Amino acid sequence: MKTMLNGPENLSRRCYRLLAIIAGVAAVVLPAAAQERATVLRPARVFDGDTMHEGWIVVVEGDRITAAGPAAGISVPAAAESIDLPGQTLLPGLIEGHSHILLHPYNETSWTDQVLNESLGERTARAVNHVRASLMAGVTTMRDLGTEGAGYADAGIKAAIEKGVIPGPRMIITSRAIVATGTYNPTGAPEFTLPKGAEEADGYDDLVRVTRDQIGRGADWIKVYADYRWGVDGTAAPTFTERELRTIVEVAASSGRYVVAHASTTEGMRRAIEAGVRTIDHGDGGTREIFAMMVARGIALCPTLAAGDAISQYGGWRKGIDPEPARIRRKRESFALALEVGVPICFGGDIGVYPHGDNVRELELMVDYGMDTTDVLHAATAGNAGYFGINDRVGSVRPGLYADLIAVDGDPTADISALRDVRLVMKGGEIYRRQ
Ligand SMILES: [Zn+2]
Repeated sequence: MKTMLNGPENLSRRCYRLLAIIAGVAAVVLPAAAQERATVLRPARVFDGDTMHEGWIVVVEGDRITAAGPAAGISVPAAAESIDLPGQTLLPGLIEGHSHILLHPYNETSWTDQVLNESLGERTARAVNHVRASLMAGVTTMRDLGTEGAGYADAGIKAAIEKGVIPGPRMIITSRAIVATGTYNPTGAPEFTLPKGAEEADGYDDLVRVTRDQIGRGADWIKVYADYRWGVDGTAAPTFTERELRTIVEVAASSGRYVVAHASTTEGMRRAIEAGVRTIDHGDGGTREIFAMMVARGIALCPTLAAGDAISQYGGWRKGIDPEPARIRRKRESFALALEVGVPICFGGDIGVYPHGDNVRELELMVDYGMDTTDVLHAATAGNAGYFGINDRVGSVRPGLYADLIAVDGDPTADISALRDVRLVMKGGEIYRRQ
């Protein structure tokens, strides 16, 4: 249908190019009807992904940003629609770095019950709501880190968004994720083989095959669990050997893809770093030495502060009333150490553990745990775009990039919670929310 609608326009463009070639004219000027829709956005200030600018305007033509800068220096297309955003900050759409669209909050249904008892149909239906909530909250790109037992449903959701069937962010997906045999949940009576929340694979041949298979089924990245709670008495312990992790990275890299490691132990992090992963998620066990290794190799840390915060509350911690549990105190300390050592910090909250659309919760905690507010905004935009290798398309307010833009009331560099007051959401030049 879309192709058919585009047909006549493409034909007329081709005719004009042909006429231009015949006439020996170098530049082709299309008639107004064939030109793309133009919009000029006039906010109080623009955060371009790195710094704040007062008095900037941004021009959008078709699905791209075509100009951004001081109003005086920009010639606005004559037919452009003007959108005034008084008192508001325009910034790149947020890039959530660690989501699970196929999970919903654990205080509604436990992770195990979701994986074992919810049908693929129900989980996919929920995911449709989750991606809409994310987009409306200003998230225009999302790296989704494993379907947790819902097969390849992430590939279907991604395709539906791209075809315009449902609204949602641009999706970077990892399909089923890879775990070492016997290390992941759910577990039960040993006589029974329960369906797992990720795909089991071990050793060179098996890991080569499974990595390739997940890529073939749509994985944009490979997610691997470098450790998990399979240690004595359920403690977290490294799973794959360093050599196994290297195998996964080698196969993924051969296709041009990155690997993200779930790692919360010191040794799990060390092996993942040595193997060459792109980001380490959780990272609770990071020491000064481990963090220095990450800095040296440019590996980003997705701290998932909000996941621990939510799980502690589900476990009975009355935040603001009770003293902080040891888990939260340790997380504050390790995050502060990562900042001190200078680890690139990714924005990724493990959303799905807590409600989809509440992505700002992680950003608020990053500020609360000691990160500079402008650095947090950078992490959520240009930072993540760089770590994920997509900064040639999204993450900054810069001509040539997709017009993935949001406007919020107030100045989020003064108060990060301003990001909760989203007034405009534009993705690829199309407005999804406007207040
Ligand atoms: Zn996760």
